[in-house]
Amino acid sequence: MTAAHDAAVDLFTRLTGRTPDGVWSAPGRVNLIGEHTDYNDGFVLPFAIPQRTVAAVGRRADRRIRVASTFADEPVEVELDDLDRVFPTPAGTTPAVAEWAAYPLGVAWALRAAAAGAATGLDIAIASDVPVGAGLSSSAAIEGATATALDDLWGTGLDAVSLARIGRTAENEAVGAPTGIMDQMASMLGESDAAIFLDCRSLATEVVPLGMADAGLAVLVMDTRVTHAHSTGGYRERRAACERGAALLGVPALRDVAVADLTRAERLMDDVTFRRVRHIVTENQRVQDTVATLRARGPRAIGDLLVASHASMRDDFEISTPELDAAVETALTSGAVGARMTGGGFGGAAIALVDRDAVPLLADAVRARFTAEGFVAPHLFEVSPSAGPRRDA
Ligand code: ADP
Ligand code: MG
Repeated sequence: MTAAHDAAVDLFTRLTGRTPDGVWSAPGRVNLIGEHTDYNDGFVLPFAIPQRTVAAVGRRADRRIRVASTFADEPVEVELDDLDRVFPTPAGTTPAVAEWAAYPLGVAWALRAAAAGAATGLDIAIASDVPVGAGLSSSAAIEGATATALDDLWGTGLDAVSLARIGRTAENEAVGAPTGIMDQMASMLGESDAAIFLDCRSLATEVVPLGMADAGLAVLVMDTRVTHAHSTGGYRERRAACERGAALLGVPALRDVAVADLTRAERLMDDVTFRRVRHIVTENQRVQDTVATLRARGPRAIGDLLVASHASMRDDFEISTPELDAAVETALTSGAVGARMTGGGFGGAAIALVDRDAVPLLADAVRARFTAEGFVAPHLFEVSPSAGPRRDA
């Protein structure tokens, strides 16, 4: 078992003096391409990663829910019947419980309606090997692990897409972070050596085989260790700009705008709004082009699309950072097939698609560049596309 598995079980035992009824886990994710397109009803192409968040859970005789995490000093307790008083968190305010606890407790709140009378008190102990705040979606992993555990223990029997929606409700309404549904879908639907092509409007998904190993390629995550906060200004400002752009164009969402409409769009709005719109519209096209290219020519052929995606996030959407740009640039000059920042931006991680044999040289070059620039040393590790949630014990 993994270190996170053992840590979650240990924490559970310290908390309760018992062994858990079960242990469940869900993965983080990397987004191969399609950034900020999710809340624009568009397309994304993420895959689940081997790093997972683990929840060791046991039923209680009373109606209390207690959550603990190796990440936090103190457990947090709420009466099941008080969840409706604690959540939703009013817009613009912080949760009534410690913010981290709003993720698992928000899942319990969102699942409770489906569980009806079957909901019982629970002890939940959480540990993770998904880096937090790195753009690898530790938030979807904690939601996915909790949702999968509660679905089993409360017998709600929901499917993966419904559990992804539960996670998103927790994140949007309990935590108060206005994120889209990509992360939860990627975590819940992950498959080995494949990406999930997701239409964020219909929630239709297609599994797209990646064939990384056959092509001799690896994906290197370059975590800049500069943390971001989704719930703060930059993300909200980008969302607002997208909504403004869609309203000016008279469409429900930027999903409904084609690349050919951009000339007209430019005349209708200010420069900043237009550049935000142009990122979303071209990024949606790049996701579809990436899927077609993967199917026709394999992963080695998608490099230019990744590079174009990064340039669009850097110049039009303005969510990159000097660290992310340095990681991407260095990866490309060190022979990567493609590279781009991934996740919400304002820090976090970039990915490089690289020949397996070239990983050590590339990693050395990125470390040297970060040292030369005076940046915090990056955290570099390989990820392979992996499976979704499971019961581990
Ligand atoms: P990301 O999803 O990119 O890692 P987010 O800001 O969306 O970043 O989510 C990170 C937040 O999720 C943390 O600040 C914390 O509140 C919560 N979280 C994630 N993993 C854990 C964990 N193992 N234990 C407790 N809270 C966690
Ligand atoms: Mg997140």
